[in-house]
Amino acid sequence: MNTNRSTDFSQTMLELHEAINALREREEDEASCSFCGKRRAEVSVLVPGPNTLCICDQCVARAARLIGQRT
Ligand SMILES: [Zn+2]
Repeated sequence: MNTNRSTDFSQTMLELHEAINALREREEDEASCSFCGKRRAEVSVLVPGPNTLCICDQCVARAARLIGQRT
């Protein structure tokens, strides 16, 4: 009856949710710096930007140095 159908629906939603989470985790693992191309595993911090853009701590430090040299 209705209860069975709603249980099935919850189960489907749960499986869908888990699948999306697994996909999202894999995407995060494969994320890399948009500037130097280093992967998440190769840097300390990967700062997420808009869309799929990211910048790593090393590029942030390099950018900060360059900006400091100009002033
Ligand atoms: Zn970088």
